[in-house]
Amino acid sequence: MLSDGMKTEDLRSLSQLGNALWLDRELSRKRTAETLEAVSLLSITEEAFLEKASSVLLARANREDLRLQAPFLGDPFFRLLPEERFLLVALHVERWSYHRVARILQCAEEQVATRAWKVRVHLASQPGSANKSGASKSVPVLGAVGVAPRHPSCPEFHSLNPWTQRFLDEEYASRERVFLQNHLMACDDCRHALNRCGELYYHVEKMIPRVEAEGFEDLGRMMDLIRKRKDPLLWTWQDAVRAFLRRPETQLLLLVILVWWAVALF
Ligand SMILES: [Zn+2]
Repeated sequence: MLSDGMKTEDLRSLSQLGNALWLDRELSRKRTAETLEAVSLLSITEEAFLEKASSVLLARANREDLRLQAPFLGDPFFRLLPEERFLLVALHVERWSYHRVARILQCAEEQVATRAWKVRVHLASQPGSANKSGASKSVPVLGAVGVAPRHPSCPEFHSLNPWTQRFLDEEYASRERVFLQNHLMACDDCRHALNRCGELYYHVEKMIPRVEAEGFEDLGRMMDLIRKRKDPLLWTWQDAVRAFLRRPETQLLLLVILVWWAVALF
């Protein structure tokens, strides 16, 4: 069951995701709160909570896809599919692993990488993307796509899933990472390929909306209420009275007393 520690980071993560799935701040807050409340009724572990809540949030956004509404059209980020926005927030803001994202999206890890690359390249090439990040470069100028020149010792460059993206997403295990770092020191071509990918990567990162602190503080208060409702030991006497009055048998009893009182009086 959900214990004391629905962690602040988890609330912040869910607020970030909600904010990227609904452009309207109020609606995003409402949907995130509803999701938290619904998922807190499930008997799942604390670790599973965040992933479950994330997938519920995404499913909801998919059902209510609002991309064609006018405010969405002005922002290239919000013109993306809900799942694509989810993917970008998960990787750039939350720094979740491919493994975790794959579990939530119910796809293979390899697919997380290819989808991420496709959406990053797409987003960076959108007109209007430049205004927001302050940069005026487009993807062809960035030159992050296409196969890099290669020597026998270079890592293989897959144009749909380049090693440079995997490196920036910190998906290499420490041994592979050390190998790549050593290679990068010796190989100008690979270093340039990584720099070009980095430009695209951080260009995209600036286009992702972020939640400020107050965006999730009220969710924290709401989680406290949910937690309290589930654990009578944390109740104050006012909570206990409220819970007592909410019970249908209490309300029936009060009604009977009221009717009896009315009859006795007149
Ligand atoms: Zn190389």
